[in-house]
Amino acid sequence: MHTLNGLEEAIGNTPLIRIKSLSEETGCDILGKAEFMNPGGSVKDRAALWMVREAEKSGALQPGGTVVEGTAGNTGIGLLHVCNARGYKSVIYMPDNQSQEKVDILRTLGAEVRVVPTVPYRDDMNYQKQAGRFAATLDNAVWANQFDNTANRLAHIDSTGPEIWTQTDGQVDAFTCAVGTGGTLAGVTRYLKSQSSDVKIVLADPHGSALYNWVTTGTAEMTPGPSITEGIGNSRVTDNLAGTDIDDAVQVPDQDMVTMVYRMLREDGWFFGSSTGINLCAAVEVAKRLGPGHKIVTMLCDDGSKYMSRLFNPEFLKERDLHA
Ligand code: PMP
Repeated sequence: MHTLNGLEEAIGNTPLIRIKSLSEETGCDILGKAEFMNPGGSVKDRAALWMVREAEKSGALQPGGTVVEGTAGNTGIGLLHVCNARGYKSVIYMPDNQSQEKVDILRTLGAEVRVVPTVPYRDDMNYQKQAGRFAATLDNAVWANQFDNTANRLAHIDSTGPEIWTQTDGQVDAFTCAVGTGGTLAGVTRYLKSQSSDVKIVLADPHGSALYNWVTTGTAEMTPGPSITEGIGNSRVTDNLAGTDIDDAVQVPDQDMVTMVYRMLREDGWFFGSSTGINLCAAVEVAKRLGPGHKIVTMLCDDGSKYMSRLFNPEFLKERDLHA
């Protein structure tokens, strides 16, 4: 083991972990990138670091400046870690339908958190648009704009994609993951397909999102929801996602995700969040479509600790006709 120099060097280079039960069941290697091992606890640390670095490189962000973002959670947590390490202030806009735990975490990390009414993206008062407008009123400030700032995707072209390629010795048959901003799927796809056009890319989607239809029919039309998953699904094709060469899509019902997350806990010992449950269900479906003997990679986006009041709350599940 070598030494890492500070927080930035501790982001990325996550292990690729074989999920034993699912691999044995499918006859494929189901491999997950352990993104919960990043300092901020999720895949979004990578995007946060790249967005801040690119803003520094362009000169938009100078020492002592402020990073403003609209985020429901992990991107904010990642940004706070990176901003604290590099001496920037952070202002986070959040919709008011998010758990209090997330607001508390961001405030503890030092963010100024502004909780605003939940309205659709098309509304001018949407939290992302408010973040953009507020950043424009400050000197030496940037709006991270994770959905349409392609520095997010670049993080995965530069880091996640090459890591997966090296860790599988170039023997990866398929990659699947869910999409929030699309940075992960779009970036990993670009890198893997630059190495081998044979790698199959499959978008995993929860219900209540338009991306399954976008991939399978070409039209980004919403499917019926809602879903209890957090951080994934989207009603639109972001700049990060646009132009990505995706081969197929899998839609995962919430009950399958819940069953998967609890199975991981009880059988394999892993404590994962909801998007990881969707990803693992999709990986199993891809394994079924490809047949035994293939290597399928997905993302273990974060752990379950932020979801205590929802996914890991039996009452919450029961009210939604879900069961562990
Ligand atoms: N899982 C979790 C837990 C997330 O917070 C996010 C980001 N919103 C994603 C998955 C999706 O990642 P991306 O934004 O790169 O599509």
